[in-house]
Amino acid sequence: MKKNSVQCRGIRLAYGNNEVLKNINVDIQPGEFFALLGPSGSGKSTLLRLIAGFNQHQHGELLIDGRDVTGMPPWERNVGMVFQSYALWPHLTVWDNVAFGLVERRVPKAEQARKVEQALATVGLERFAQRRPGQLSGGQQQRVALARTIVIEPQVLLLDEPLSNLDKSLRVQMRQELLALQRRLGITTIFVTHDQEEAMTTADRMAVLDKGVVQQVGSPRELYDHPVNEFVASFVGTMNLLPGTVQSHEGQQLTLDLDGVGLVQLPATAGAPVRGRAVLSFRPHALQIDGAPPAGDARHLWMRGVVEASEFLGEATRYQVRVGTQSLSVDQPHHRGVDRFAAGSSVGIGLERSQARLLPI
Ligand code: ADP
Repeated sequence: MKKNSVQCRGIRLAYGNNEVLKNINVDIQPGEFFALLGPSGSGKSTLLRLIAGFNQHQHGELLIDGRDVTGMPPWERNVGMVFQSYALWPHLTVWDNVAFGLVERRVPKAEQARKVEQALATVGLERFAQRRPGQLSGGQQQRVALARTIVIEPQVLLLDEPLSNLDKSLRVQMRQELLALQRRLGITTIFVTHDQEEAMTTADRMAVLDKGVVQQVGSPRELYDHPVNEFVASFVGTMNLLPGTVQSHEGQQLTLDLDGVGLVQLPATAGAPVRGRAVLSFRPHALQIDGAPPAGDARHLWMRGVVEASEFLGEATRYQVRVGTQSLSVDQPHHRGVDRFAAGSSVGIGLERSQARLLPI
């Protein structure tokens, strides 16, 4: 299958006065598995439907394979879309559901048969060709929807929350299958999800949207390690966010007055040399918890706190610890035989200095 690029340049779309997409600029590479991640109402589906041709933008350009397709109807774009609801025909067999797009395109019968067979084999459903959708599990219906889309050999594959109708364990299995299928076909795939774990585990790169604005584009690792703002920091994974004021930034040292915690000193690498208000961010696993913090440990910034609650997660215990007027999440890897700190315990928590980053407010 040919690999195509998708480029959004300065795209704006409004419903009346409601600006739903605000100056979207995203370059999706040929063959990439690209996720659009954001909370409900952030504009993900609107953008996906716009790429499919179901929505029209008022400003900007949309290029598929370098060609501006603005104003072109969906059927001329040769873009395949899998809907959240699968939208299968309940009265047709699996075979006829998959053949549907080929019949519409008046593909000769013999070629239809060859292509349907191949598409069903690709998703592992050869044996179910004569069933109706109602006689299949959720995961199998999902695969029929995929087969029906890839059979027309689209330039780009668009998936709108494709796994949200499946239960948790099936979702994990299907996302692996989906990724394996995408790799086999090499087709550029754009995938909408509100589930950050789903995006992180599958996407080559992703765009995080909030209120119709692309907040950041990057690989899952880039977004996790280097979020550009508070929104991305808290939406991708769990993040502790402590607001405060930068007091000084001299040489290698940054001095911050954290609200409700007090003065702390960090390496200057923690952030840009901003003055004034900022947010200090760090992950729960960048913190250690200890009843008696070691003396002379320069690697960590030790603070005193009180355990408010804890949750046993298996691999780790997640504590909520009150420090001053703030509450922090602290993950401690679990080892058999290690006691848990009870609620009310007075503890030290040590922040690994190199893991803290300062974000603009
Ligand atoms: P998401 O997919 O991120 O949940 P949507 O793209 O569905 O978000 O919606 C983004 C915003 O656009 C929402 O505020 C929604 O109410 C609005 N919206 C979506 N479709 C329409 C429409 N056809 N007419 C008017 N407003 C719409």
